Amino acid sequence: MSGRLVIVGLGPGRAGLVAPDAEAALAAASDLIGYGPYLDRIAARPHQTRHASDNREEIERARHALALCASGRSVAVVSSGDAGVFAMASAVFEAMEAGPLAWRTMDVTVIPGISAMLAASARLGAPLGHDFCAISLSDNLKPWPLVCHRLRLAAQAGFVMALYNARSKARPNRLGDAFDVLRGVLPGSVPVVFATAISRTDERVDISTLAGAAPGLADMRTLVLIGSPETRQIAGTQFLYTPRSVLA
Ligand code: SAH
Repeated sequence: MSGRLVIVGLGPGRAGLVAPDAEAALAAASDLIGYGPYLDRIAARPHQTRHASDNREEIERARHALALCASGRSVAVVSSGDAGVFAMASAVFEAMEAGPLAWRTMDVTVIPGISAMLAASARLGAPLGHDFCAISLSDNLKPWPLVCHRLRLAAQAGFVMALYNARSKARPNRLGDAFDVLRGVLPGSVPVVFATAISRTDERVDISTLAGAAPGLADMRTLVLIGSPETRQIAGTQFLYTPRSVLA
């Protein structure tokens, strides 16, 4: 008899931004699986086993979760933000498709969470109020020329962009290179926001323009928002919004 597997998004950081359904799923689990710092955000409960792993071992971690579920455990796999946005949910389904057929008939559920782009957008006002896209700048799982190609096309299409994994120690120059690609298409006046550790105690927000954007303002906890030519800041305030309509 197989158990249960829930894939849970923990939101951007603050406890109040974890969905009640996610809390209930975490409380009901016998085993918690995820990147160590994410597991640290979950209240300790007796009789619960924690399997902390490195952030790069996603598929291996997903297989482990499915195998535990197959053995009858009640497993919660956790991600930050929403588990379906650059996170564990895809890894679990990828492992399911490549694994034994029995894994396809198990009780698997995904619980949505508040993704970093939604938390950052709410913090600023409404920059995602019109058409937008999300792009991960990480080139661990896709080639860097493809990232540049997508950035260029998204800029040409007039999307607001939420850039995840904007900076890492291993790739300190990628964000600067991304800004150069965008400067080739967009006016230097479009707003650029560095939204760091949103909803946590060390939250920080820096508003700049594409012309003046300094990559050093981003770290591994930063979501970078690139405005469209329509995105505006209300003078005298920190509020940024993208109007609901674009005139022909
Ligand atoms: N599943 C997560 C994203 C994981 S990728 C989600 O839906 O939010 C990790 C990246 O998310 C980080 O490099 C950063 O770009 C962004 N991120 C995660 N939490 C954040 C927060 N509280 N504030 C700003 N950006 C955050």
